[in-house]
Amino acid sequence: MKKKLQILIIVSIIVFLSLSIIQYSLIKNTFNLEQKIFKSEIEKIMTKINKAKSLENFEERWKRKFSFYSEKYQIGKFSKEEYLDSLYQFTTKENKVFVKLFDQEKKKINLDYDIDFQMKPTLLIFIHPEKKDSIWFPEKFHIGNSFIAKNALIVNNSIWKVETSSDETDIENNKVSYELFTADYVKIKNKTWIIFQRMSFTFFFSILLFILICSLFFYTVKSMIKQKDLLLLKTDFINNIIHEFKTPLATLKIASKSLRNKKIVTNEILLENTLTTIERQNIRLEKLLNQIVEISPNNQIKLQFEKVEMSNFLKEIYQDFQLSCSQKEINFLENISDEKVNCSIDKVHLTIAIQNLLDNAIKYSKDEIKVEVNSYVKDNFYHIKIKDSGIGISSKKQKEIFKKFYRVASGNIHNVKGLGLGLFYTKQIIEQHHGEIFVKSELGKGTVFNIKLPIENEK
Ligand code: ADP
Repeated sequence: MKKKLQILIIVSIIVFLSLSIIQYSLIKNTFNLEQKIFKSEIEKIMTKINKAKSLENFEERWKRKFSFYSEKYQIGKFSKEEYLDSLYQFTTKENKVFVKLFDQEKKKINLDYDIDFQMKPTLLIFIHPEKKDSIWFPEKFHIGNSFIAKNALIVNNSIWKVETSSDETDIENNKVSYELFTADYVKIKNKTWIIFQRMSFTFFFSILLFILICSLFFYTVKSMIKQKDLLLLKTDFINNIIHEFKTPLATLKIASKSLRNKKIVTNEILLENTLTTIERQNIRLEKLLNQIVEISPNNQIKLQFEKVEMSNFLKEIYQDFQLSCSQKEINFLENISDEKVNCSIDKVHLTIAIQNLLDNAIKYSKDEIKVEVNSYVKDNFYHIKIKDSGIGISSKKQKEIFKKFYRVASGNIHNVKGLGLGLFYTKQIIEQHHGEIFVKSELGKGTVFNIKLPIENEK
């Protein structure tokens, strides 16, 4: 059973992890797809903007001036530095105009996100049979908004081929021809966020589904473990019942057999002893049966509340308990408050509940038995403390002992008899009295049970 459960948990974890990976890759793919859709949308927008008359005019003007300087460089009127410097200066000056025009066109389109544009001349190749040259333009050389192109979306790559003639040229055929490579970049503010927003539906449902599967998985595993523990407890309980019933039944069998023995029947002392044994075993069986009946789900414990003076009530329980343990050597200590306070209680059930705690103090004792009963009044509550110097309970087990069928040793290996029902019953009864029960214990040193019952104030 344990192994099966472990295999099931491992398989579930593997399935769960695989599902998470699939889910992750699905989201990633959707994101990439949305990114592509977004890119083509931007490309269309840019084509539309660049087709605007004002921008086309600007481009024409800029290209004309670019050609003019390029020709001058090609025929040797400018050094490379002079050429680049002139290009940079006129482009920077013209750029202000371009940004203004671009902003105007952008506004016309009415986008719900902001975009920046940059046209970057990257490489210029002069093609001439005699004087071939190429120029890589520096990073700062651009038309449009200023941003680092590396992180932006590249929407267009183009080659501008120019063939021109100059009167001043001393080059063959008076021809100047070159190719200008340009790249168009677009930077979208909060691009990732916009894409996430667009796939919010998928994203939301994926996360919801993931959380749902997670919760379902944990709930299933948790209830499986709970079921397994309950099954173990029930097996324990049945073993304990068998164990508990065996001794009194065996004793009754021997005792009833001995009643057929004439020697015993005619001997008054022996007869009396045998009858006492039968009676004692009868009471024991009855007690066991009552414990089982009391906790059975069909048997709702109905309490009959009455106003009871607590000091005398507790003293009576304590004295009866002392009498019932007269055969054993027990160190009794009592400090029951004489303060007269009333509580609304069911005398019969509360007596059994307190007796359970006193019985346990003896059952789980060490060689030297010490039982202490204290009571006091505090904050409108009547406190009862039952302290022993027995074997104690580890802090881990203290949380379990009030559960139905729970016994500290597992399986059938109990030194002390019991069904694991006493504390469960006691807690139920105290809670039905609107009270509380706590345990404080140290392994090997002893245990204290503290009961807190609400005091019934005089009206
Ligand atoms: P039972 O005594 O029939 O086993 P209980 O419900 O009375 O059942 O107690 C549950 C478990 O709590 C016990 O099996 C025992 O291990 C532990 N326990 C209860 N009272 C004490 C105590 N005073 N000292 C040490 N252990 C205790």
